[in-house]
Amino acid sequence: MIKKLINRIFGKSPATSAKPAKGKLKTLSVAEHGIDPKLVSNNAVRVTQTLQQEGYKAFIVGGAVRDLLLGVKPKDFDVATNATPEQVKRLFRRAFIIGKRFQIVHVMFGSDLLEVTTFRGTSTDDAPKDEFGRVLRDNTFGEQHEDATRRDFTINAMYYDPASQTVLDYHGGMGDIRKKTLRIIGQPEARYREDPVRMLRVVRFAAKLQFDIADATRAPIAVMAPLIDNVPAARVFDEMLKLLTSGHALACLKRLRQEGLHHGLLPLLDVVLEQPLGAKFVSLALANTDLRVREGKTVSPGFLFASLLWHQVLEKWQAYQASGEFPIPALHLAADDVLQTQTESLALQRRIGTDMRDIWAMQPRFDRRTGKTPYKLLEHPRLRAGLDFLILRAASGEIEEELAQWWTDFIASDNAGRETLLAAKPRTTKKSATASAAPARLSNAEAIDPAEANDTPAPKKRRRRPKKVFVTE
Ligand code: ATP
Ligand code: MG
Repeated sequence: MIKKLINRIFGKSPATSAKPAKGKLKTLSVAEHGIDPKLVSNNAVRVTQTLQQEGYKAFIVGGAVRDLLLGVKPKDFDVATNATPEQVKRLFRRAFIIGKRFQIVHVMFGSDLLEVTTFRGTSTDDAPKDEFGRVLRDNTFGEQHEDATRRDFTINAMYYDPASQTVLDYHGGMGDIRKKTLRIIGQPEARYREDPVRMLRVVRFAAKLQFDIADATRAPIAVMAPLIDNVPAARVFDEMLKLLTSGHALACLKRLRQEGLHHGLLPLLDVVLEQPLGAKFVSLALANTDLRVREGKTVSPGFLFASLLWHQVLEKWQAYQASGEFPIPALHLAADDVLQTQTESLALQRRIGTDMRDIWAMQPRFDRRTGKTPYKLLEHPRLRAGLDFLILRAASGEIEEELAQWWTDFIASDNAGRETLLAAKPRTTKKSATASAAPARLSNAEAIDPAEANDTPAPKKRRRRPKKVFVTE
């Protein structure tokens, strides 16, 4: 008993019981799970069928099963099998083995990509860990019940066989779906220590699915939150991007704050959630992003991060000007500072950084509404994003509504209309401090051109990088 307690406190206990969870395994029939086969992708069925015809086990797994059980069309399908990556690769014309340490297979059908993973074992006891207990490499193949035990939450550990239309439920996931509860598999402290990103995942799923977090799953988060500091920045960034493009970004950020996960952990969130001036701007930007995601539109990470960090830029911009810099160089210096800090701490990719800088740098150019200057801005390749950003600034009360409206009209007009707009002396209205015009403006802000936003993590465009390296980087 005492030994158990010590192990629990010091994290010596295995995160997940090595005992097969077979006793708990339930096989659910259609009558019990109610999955609509029409929501299942044909390609996922093709992959499981092909593997099964060769004598292997193969199931749709993870988030796709969870979404199917909730009656939602999954955005992507993952397959788990007992075939090795080499065996999988041989069965498909366009199949690529990805990853060095833990190999998975990407099977392509046209532009559709399915990730096929071999069942993984639960040998985290012997796996190399960092000084805080975070598992660095844990890449052994295993049995199906072990694979289930390694997954994060009970609702993510179910396996659907499209052929027999049965669901294998190893950890009571179906019950938790019904109860709308997120429950981590195994001993919560140990699972978070193994992989602190699971704390961010639980928050994302809770906000996205509107599920409760089971008490035991939630309790350790407040204490263990600082462990996220220790996770490589690129991995935290990936998770942040998933969170921000989940269609529930605002809810996720609120929940992160509620769970004490934002503070000191993610420098970006400290900035975003604690700057009084920017709060309204950020809320509008995220509400707009959520709307776009829910409507199936693309979201540009550059635009998103440019919005999240704008008020930090503004503050520094003003400071540089106060110290004697001219406005344009001052803005560039401010952008440099912000990008440098965030690139270090968040592993912001260079391309996203370039987009952010473009959007910011365009803002003072919108102030110049005389002569040929506005025409030059029309040629800017990121004009739509710049305008949408301007509209958000107006909606948040930072600048005059009139400026955003003038540019919206100028861009939409023909040459004669543009000349008229240029000739009319721009009205100088008092800076709008109200939010009343925000909804109308936001509908304009949806018009980010998808062609410009092509760096989006759109559901269909998957990365070649294995995302299912649960605890390894
Ligand atoms: P989403 O809808 O965001 O894609 P998902 O559950 O499919 O949700 P993925 O990141 O695609 O999330 O992961 C697929 C599955 O892999 C999960 O459902 C879960 O079973 C497992 N998994 C992913 N990340 C982890 C992790 N950090 N620890 C344990 N299991 C994980
Ligand atoms: Mg997924």
